[in-house]
Amino acid sequence: MPYESNFDEIYNFVAQKFEGENEYLQAVREVLHDIIPIYNANESYKRDDIVRRLCFPERVIYFTVSWMNSSGDIEVNQGWRVQHNSAMGPYKGGLRFHPTVNLSVLKFLAFEQCFKNALTGLPMGGGKGGADFNPKGRSDRDIMLFCQAFMRELQRHIGANTDVPAGDINVGAREIGYLYGEYRRLNNKFEGVLTGKGLEFGGSYVRTEATGFGLIYFLDAVCKQHNTDIEGKNIVVSGAGNVALHAALKATQKGAKVISLSNSRGTLYKQDGFDEPAIKFAIAEHAKSNNILTDLADKGIGDWKKGKTPWHLTCDIALPCATQNELDKDDALTLVNNGCNMVLEGANMPCTDEAQDVFKDKALVYVPGKASNAGGVALSGLEMSQNAMFSQRNADTLDEQLQNIMLSIHERCVEEGKDTANNYIDYMKGANIAAFRRLADAIVAQGV
Ligand code: NDP
Repeated sequence: MPYESNFDEIYNFVAQKFEGENEYLQAVREVLHDIIPIYNANESYKRDDIVRRLCFPERVIYFTVSWMNSSGDIEVNQGWRVQHNSAMGPYKGGLRFHPTVNLSVLKFLAFEQCFKNALTGLPMGGGKGGADFNPKGRSDRDIMLFCQAFMRELQRHIGANTDVPAGDINVGAREIGYLYGEYRRLNNKFEGVLTGKGLEFGGSYVRTEATGFGLIYFLDAVCKQHNTDIEGKNIVVSGAGNVALHAALKATQKGAKVISLSNSRGTLYKQDGFDEPAIKFAIAEHAKSNNILTDLADKGIGDWKKGKTPWHLTCDIALPCATQNELDKDDALTLVNNGCNMVLEGANMPCTDEAQDVFKDKALVYVPGKASNAGGVALSGLEMSQNAMFSQRNADTLDEQLQNIMLSIHERCVEEGKDTANNYIDYMKGANIAAFRRLADAIVAQGV
């Protein structure tokens, strides 16, 4: 029997099942408000109970990673892979190695990933995985030994047409190389089972840059939509990893002034903006450095503000590119009071619920990561298609494809999120609804 539902009924049902999984419930809340009216208006969505089914991961894999480090000591870590939904294609989403990784964090990331992947228009389902391993300060050998032990467990659950992980926090080109090597040795197969691989073994041009560059392509589209230009704008960026640095590079190349980068230990502020050589230095060295930002400060580039976040800086645009819930209500109010009028997420869910309420209340342009950081997974999708054909496209072609995908995600968000009466675009609503329709249609078409 088709039945109407409402936020409270579905949310309470999910909250009861997943009590205490705060990040997961936060991600579900962000979506439910927008999609329930669409669900209620569609007989087949109601008949097939689509919303509740979407709130449950199809499969959650847990494993222990017991491994011997390079000193001969045994270490024990926890590993997970959350395979949330595969209606649109193989599970796809990154691996994160960080001491804060737990089931709730990975479930929120896998859930968001389904919506993000649907927005790209490419055939990819959603998943996420990782471990509570902290690679900071570990030797290269220890990282290789951990990656190999992690893959010994994960390999039985993934495959080029089943589940294709990529990188995320602390999992970059080096880790993907070690993970891939172990998969290949164990399975005697050279296949596109991971993305973000080295160019010499099935990797794609532009994959490394794609999330940060894609974020700036999206920002370009947002600026055009609002009759302005990125050139000359003051931009605050948080993070100093893959996403943050490539966003900073592309924004600088487009004539913006990036006045901050940050990490978990502080913020590097440069009033007149970082120049391209400084950002390129950081890109080349950050994986090898313990703190690339203090390295820059030591070279006389910027002022290091120990323990500070960048949200108190006066800017036109803020790009949170570090981690979840890094920008709260007070930060949002400070940004707004200092004249910031656009916030685009490079990280996944970096703004708390309350921060988002502030942006909405003040009618700021606010774009959720599931739309604005989708460039990374889009390029991963293109890497998968190149692997399936045993081919490698050139960088210019892929960069153009990335730009087109970001533009089309922007169009979809505008189409579903436009509030003509108030002359406002609700990008969160637009992203949620556009993604939900694609996901829901795929699920309905495949039966229960
Ligand atoms: P990296 O590991 O390359 O960089 C992460 C950066 O965030 C580091 O500078 C790190 O600082 C900082 N950081 C981590 N935790 C905190 C914290 N609690 N407070 C302040 N800073 C922190 O990761 P990525 O750049 O790949 O990922 C960043 C974000 O973007 C994540 O949310 C990820 O899920 C998301 N994302 C990544 C994609 C990709 O293609 N890589 C694709 C789409 C989204 P420190 O070194 O001090 O820990």
